[in-house]
Parts: sequence; structure tokens; C-alpha cells
Amino acid sequence: MNMEKKYDIVIIGSGLAGLVCGAILAKEGKRVCIVEKNEQIGGSLQTFKRDGVTFDTGVHYIGGLEKGHNLFQIFQYLGIMDRLELVKMDEEGFDVVLFGDDNDEYPYGMGYENFERILGNKFPEEKEAIHRYCEEMKRICNNFPMYYLRTQGTYQDNSVFTTGVRDFIAGITSNKKLQQVLAGTNLLYAGIADKTPMYIHALVVNSYIESAMKCKQGGDQIAKLIARVIKENGGDILRKQKAVHLEVTDGVAKSLMLESGERIRAETFISNIPPQQTLELTDSHAIRQVFRNRIKNLDNSISVFVIYATLKPGTFQHRNRNYYYFDEQDVWRCHDYTEQTWPYTYAFFECVPQHQNEYAEAVTIMAYMKFDEVKEWADTHNTTLHKNERGESYEAFKSEKRKNY
Ligand SMILES: Cc1cc2nc3c(=O)[nH]c(=O)nc-3n(C[C@H](O)[C@H](O)[C@H](O)COP(=O)(O)OP(=O)(O)OC[C@H]3O[C@@H](n4cnc5c(N)ncnc54)[C@H](O)[C@@H]3O)c2cc1C
Repeated sequence: MNMEKKYDIVIIGSGLAGLVCGAILAKEGKRVCIVEKNEQIGGSLQTFKRDGVTFDTGVHYIGGLEKGHNLFQIFQYLGIMDRLELVKMDEEGFDVVLFGDDNDEYPYGMGYENFERILGNKFPEEKEAIHRYCEEMKRICNNFPMYYLRTQGTYQDNSVFTTGVRDFIAGITSNKKLQQVLAGTNLLYAGIADKTPMYIHALVVNSYIESAMKCKQGGDQIAKLIARVIKENGGDILRKQKAVHLEVTDGVAKSLMLESGERIRAETFISNIPPQQTLELTDSHAIRQVFRNRIKNLDNSISVFVIYATLKPGTFQHRNRNYYYFDEQDVWRCHDYTEQTWPYTYAFFECVPQHQNEYAEAVTIMAYMKFDEVKEWADTHNTTLHKNERGESYEAFKSEKRKNY
């Protein structure tokens, strides 16, 4: 008796991308299965609770969710927009850039009009440059038909791929301070001055300038709502099922082996896990060695050290904005921290207060951290599924880091 399941589409990984992809295909009539190795779906949309507070692990605020914006349109199509509990951030400054040696604050206004007005007041001599920056941001994003869900059109301007973000901003203004402020949220895309192409900066920052929102009860509500759409349309989501091997015959992927020993057959397989890990799933000759080597040798972006803190009630004024702080006025130096200069920069996100609005209840603070700092624990895993403390040395490492914050 053949116990293998058969689907039209199998998607590996239930992150936001895998879920949205699965929901679209399920709504279009495909029989979809998503396999997820963790207990909780959502990947970086996962949340956890401490002291009664829900903390986001990877989505602290979201752009493009106002009517007509790109993510709004996708979520509207999926039918989840009305059920999302969202809080709009401060239109007079949803992101604020701060420097240790400057008492002033540099807020990003929501909507290009506010953005221009607020930064223009900070840099009156630079109003024209700020206007040009906004126009360029819109132009670059327009260059990507899919970003605005246009099915027609091609990339009009290849320079957006080849110009580094620092050069792009320097081409807009020679004012050093304004350059720093405009690049002040580069932690969002782990930006490297001369390596990150300007389009990455534009696509990410534009979505927040258009509209910035927080999820009231944590980002996992997005994952749960999309999962419901998939199930309502006949799809399956298999949790605690790690994909371990993709079987390929005559250059065509035929079935996926799970760690549990189960095998799933499908017409099409879509991977929502990192490219290196995807290629490790199969040794098929259909993928040329030169391509494998190229992918294997790609650098991973830098990681982050995160503090999740609950606050004493009534002590910290609630502000509906995020802060990006730098010790000095070089926002591109963050990757090159030393033991002495760490953290140098951090991002500060408040959780949406659940009980009253005047005071903050919890915050998440995030600073860059290189993988080398934790490589001695590379082979350890501590998840709800596989509990495994990393030992005293790891606890001592974390405690030392906390002191430097
Ligand atoms: C620290 C941090 C902060 C961030 N902050 C924000 C923010 O404030 N706003 C914002 O918009 N974006 C933010 N992002 C980015 C955003 O979270 C991600 O871009 C997005 O969630 C990624 O979704 P994804 O589907 O591509 O991948 P992921 O969320 O990584 O999903 C991949 C999934 O695949 C699963 N998986 C992996 N291997 C296997 C396997 N072999 N078998 C089965 N399943 C597997 C994983 O468990 C995971 O669930 C942040 C990211 C990080 C890391």
C-alpha cells in the first residue's frame, strides 16, 4: 500500500514568504503542503511570552500596510487585512536617528510629505536635496514592477543594482550629517556602505516611509491568519517536520523526505529556506557544481544580539517610535565593532502596551553581533522542540554582553 502523500506544490519552510506563497497558490486552486521544522509556524514571525508580555523575534514593525500600499494589497487579496490588529506608528517620527555626540533627534516622518517637512526643518539648507532623495526613492521603487504588484514591465534602470547605497546618498547631498541621517536605519537591511546596492535601501526604507505599523499582539497573528487561509483552501501545514532530502529523477524533483521518514510527492517544490541549505537537500547533477560553489561561498549577513526586557510599571514613558542610536556620526561603522566599541549602535523597539498607553511595558534592543562570537556553540540547538541548554560558558557570555549595553 502506498502511504505517500501527493500534492501539487510542496513548500519548505513556513516563514512569511512560504505562507504567502502557499496561500496564493491554495486560493488559485492548487493543493498545497507546507513543511515546517519548528513547532511554531511563521519563521521570523514567531513570538514568545515573558512576564505576560508578547515579544516579537523578527518583525517589530511593518511597512506598506496602509490602504493601497503593496503589503496591504497582498493581505487584502488573502482576506486577512480586516482581521489584523495593527497600531499605526507616530506620523511625526516613526523612526528616530540619534547620535551619542549630538543632543538633537532626527525623526523620519510618515508619508513623503511629512518626511520632507520634518527633515527639512532639521536641515533648512538641504530642503531641495531632501526633496530629490524622496523623488529618487519613489523612482527606484517604481523600477520594480512586482514591488507595486504590476504584472507588466521590466527594470528600466540597471544602475540601481550597481550603485552602492553610500554613493547613492552622497550623490544626493554633500551634507555629511544628512547623509548619516538618511542611512541611519541601515540595520534594517544589514547595510554595508559600498556593498549593499541602493535598491535594497530604497525598497526597505520606502515601505516604512509610506506607512509604518506594529502588530498589537505580536506578528504571529499574521502567520496564524495566513495559515487559516491555506487550510480553508484545502492546504496542509505540517509542523515539526524537517525537510532532509529532495529526491530528483532525470533532473526533476519528485519527492521530499522528512526527518520523520515520511515522503511527500509533488509536481513542484518551492524552497523558503536559505539557498545554501536548499542546495544541501539534493546532490542532483541538475544543479551545476559551479553554481553550488557560488551559492556556498556567499557571505551571510551579520547577525544580532537581542535583549528582551520587561519594564517596571509606570517608569518609562511610552513613545510610539523606534530609535536607531550610534555612538558617533558614522552609521556605516557598525559592522567593524571591537570588544571595546561594542555595541556602537543599537535599535530600540517598544512592544505595543497592552494595558494602558502612557507607559511602556516592554522593549526589544538589538545590536549587531558577528557569528564568530558564538561559533563555539554553532552545533548546539535550544528550541521548544529540542531543549538543550548551552552550558555555563554560554550563560557567562550573555551576561558579559548584557553589561556592555
Ligand atoms: C532579528 C530580526 C529582526 C527583524 N525585524 C524586522 C522588522 O522589524 N520588520 C520587518 O518587516 N522585517 C524584519 N525582519 C525581517 C523579516 O523578519 C524577514 O524578512 C521575514 O520574516 C523572513 O521571512 P522568510 O519567509 O523569508 O524566512 P523565515 O522567516 O526565516 O522562514 C524560514 C522558515 O523555514 C523553516 N525551515 C528552515 N529549514 C527547514 C527545513 N529543513 N525543513 C522545514 N522547515 C525549515 C524555519 O524554521 C522557518 O520557519 C527582521 C529579521 C530579523 C532576523
